[in-house]
Amino acid sequence: MMDEKVLSMKEYINEAEAALLHTYNRYQVVLDKGDGVYLTDIEGKKYLDFCAGIAVFALGYNNREYNDALKGQIDKVIHTSNYYYNVPAVEAAVKLKKVSGMDRVFFTNSGAEAVEGALKAARKYAFLKDGKTDHEIIAMNHSFHGRTFGALSVTGNPHYREAFEPMIGNIRFADLNDFDSVLAQVTDKTCAIILETVQGEGGIYPATGEFLKKVRALCDEKDILLILDEIQCGMGRTGEMFAWQRYGVKPDIMTTAKALGCGVPVGAFLMTEKAGAHSLASGDHGTTYGGNPLACAAVSKVLDLFEKGHIIDNVREVGAYLEEKLGELVDNYDFIETHRGLGLMQGLVFSIPVGDIINRALEKGLILINAGTNIIRFVPPLVITKENVDEMLAILTECLDEKKTS
Ligand SMILES: *Cc1c(COP(=O)(O)O)cnc(C)c1O
Repeated sequence: MMDEKVLSMKEYINEAEAALLHTYNRYQVVLDKGDGVYLTDIEGKKYLDFCAGIAVFALGYNNREYNDALKGQIDKVIHTSNYYYNVPAVEAAVKLKKVSGMDRVFFTNSGAEAVEGALKAARKYAFLKDGKTDHEIIAMNHSFHGRTFGALSVTGNPHYREAFEPMIGNIRFADLNDFDSVLAQVTDKTCAIILETVQGEGGIYPATGEFLKKVRALCDEKDILLILDEIQCGMGRTGEMFAWQRYGVKPDIMTTAKALGCGVPVGAFLMTEKAGAHSLASGDHGTTYGGNPLACAAVSKVLDLFEKGHIIDNVREVGAYLEEKLGELVDNYDFIETHRGLGLMQGLVFSIPVGDIINRALEKGLILINAGTNIIRFVPPLVITKENVDEMLAILTECLDEKKTS
């Protein structure tokens, strides 16, 4: 029988705080299991989840087919090595090519690593053209691309970078949706422009079609590679498989992760044939785990289930409903300024900090997250229904009303 002592929630939290590095201010809850769009903590309290592990668990928890696919792969083989081929990686890559229209796939273990690979590919592409090693990359202010050095170097938030300087060199920053600010940073050394098609952590700012088209034309004219980071906004979240597909502005390199494996740690960077054939070659890049059979079995099944479950249709329908309801909140509360977003990636912008509202919601059984101090970010599982949105709004409205009177 079990000889491990079962602790209370408070005791686990204390043990966690004594053992883990303090890099997060965690919510005071120990989550235990999930089913559909609900999570349960170790004391049996149920929560409606509008965070989805930060835009990860698109298919909802405890999806039988997904679970069975993973269990089946575990019983076959979890890991081999990239020195050999494996069937799940082949299947996952072929399906990913099909839904993205890109030509070449490299699987990674995380979003940040996908960004690292994309940046290396861009530098190599430029190096092969002129043999120089002083190329520049343009990134956006308020962007977020991850916590490793390369990804952090193109993250437009000085607060995340400051203590870790020096970053990798030759990065210049411009403003999203301000084409002139991009133009002002272009030199004959520019090898890539990297941006999130919809900025996530930075506050849910979608790039406009006009801006993307101008950036694309600039890149074509100067043979600069356009890297679109779709780690958060990709995989159906905005009502397209990848957000750029809405505008028909195709990147040379794109990154994906978060919902790609729906919880199994996996990311990827994808390239067009042109970028792929003239950048990273044998020996230039690698990873031990990236693209292993377990991770790729997840990717492969996720892409099947997206198609079978008409996930994108659901995002369009429920996303439009959520957007309409957020608009009503803006009208009804004077401390809510506006809302913005695409599909099931929405932000509600407050004139006050939202931390207290999120804590109250958690107490009432609703999981929400912020993006910055003043924005509540809605990135629920992509399988949510309008009824789930109503249920979320009932709890959120209670919290907002308490805020009004307090
Ligand atoms: C989350 C995120 C990353 C980093 O992904 P990790 O898996 O945390 O390394 C990079 N870019 C964007 C847009 C993200 O949202």
